[in-house]
Amino acid sequence: MTPRTQTILTVLGARPQFIKAAVVSRAFATRSRICEHIVHTGQHFDDSMSQVFFREMGIPEPRWNLGVSGLSHGAMTGRMLEGIEAILVAERPDMVLVYGDTTSTLAGALAAAKLGIPIAHVEAGLRSFNRAMPEEINRVLTDHAAQLLFAPTAAAVANLRREGFPGAAVHCVGDVMYDGCLAYGALAAERSTILRDLDLLGRPYVLATFHRQENTDDPNRLATIVRALAATALHVTVVVPLHPRTRRILANMPQIADPLARLRLSEPLGFFDMMVLERHARLIATDSGGVQKEAYFHGVPCVTLRHETEWVELVEIGANRLAPPEDERTVTETIRTMLDIDRSVFAGHAPFGDGRAAERIVDVIAEAG
Ligand code: UDP
Repeated sequence: MTPRTQTILTVLGARPQFIKAAVVSRAFATRSRICEHIVHTGQHFDDSMSQVFFREMGIPEPRWNLGVSGLSHGAMTGRMLEGIEAILVAERPDMVLVYGDTTSTLAGALAAAKLGIPIAHVEAGLRSFNRAMPEEINRVLTDHAAQLLFAPTAAAVANLRREGFPGAAVHCVGDVMYDGCLAYGALAAERSTILRDLDLLGRPYVLATFHRQENTDDPNRLATIVRALAATALHVTVVVPLHPRTRRILANMPQIADPLARLRLSEPLGFFDMMVLERHARLIATDSGGVQKEAYFHGVPCVTLRHETEWVELVEIGANRLAPPEDERTVTETIRTMLDIDRSVFAGHAPFGDGRAAERIVDVIAEAG
């Protein structure tokens, strides 16, 4: 009797998910008895937020694209749920795989849960303990719908234990983004011309990204971030690849046009350009979850433009400091302090595993099949 092929349906939709999925899809491709199909919800859809990652990282073409984007959270979740359910009913995969904490994650998990299809969640157990964040709702609900919970860190495992998950469901595998950084770092260094393009070769600069709803939807906070970065730009170049949502909102804030003009703004970058910019930055200021980790992977100090972070180990180590964007001076001073930290704090810690998280995930999924 020939062994059965396990079918995995991966649901993706947003930039950080493409980056996380790339290494896991590569690992699936090495297994003859696993067949992965990808559903792209369409949440992020244009070249710079979606296709570039599929091209650069060799992610398999999605078999379906639901084209759902630009709506309210509820409307997007509803339309995705409907679209994913129809695919699941037709395909009956053995498992649905979701990543992270976006609307696409929750929609994939809900659709599978309602049909009794097992769910695997990569990046399980992260908690900000701030239920005002849409991401927190998405990740908590997804974890509680999942049968396989792939936690990236010991802190994530501890969160899941506190919530009563059975030990057998939780797998501490390491962080797939660390795998990605190792797997694509050399290629990025070879292919990216971003330092030359932005005239940054041999020049110090700070890299900043901000797009969290709690920052973009609060004009005071957004203005505080821009003003603090503009104050930093008096001493060192500040490069900001703008998320489309941030760009749209900033376009309607003439009161901060002057400080904004002191920043080196760019379109969203491909992953290779972003990795190279991160690696050579003097400091990274961000409200992104993934970028906080990548700062650490590259040995670059990070200032997190939020009240809390899910990546608590980085704050404990001293590689990351929180600077809630309530007050311009606090943010500027935190950036100044972190520019001077002793980078030896990065040594001797390995909170994100050994770069083999994707292999472990695929091993566990294969065993479950
Ligand atoms: N990223 C990118 N280009 C950019 C900004 C970010 O490739 O212009 C990458 C970044 O390196 C990281 C991921 O996108 O791997 C983080 O995604 P994002 O900040 O959108 O989401 P979050 O991690 O906050 O969920």
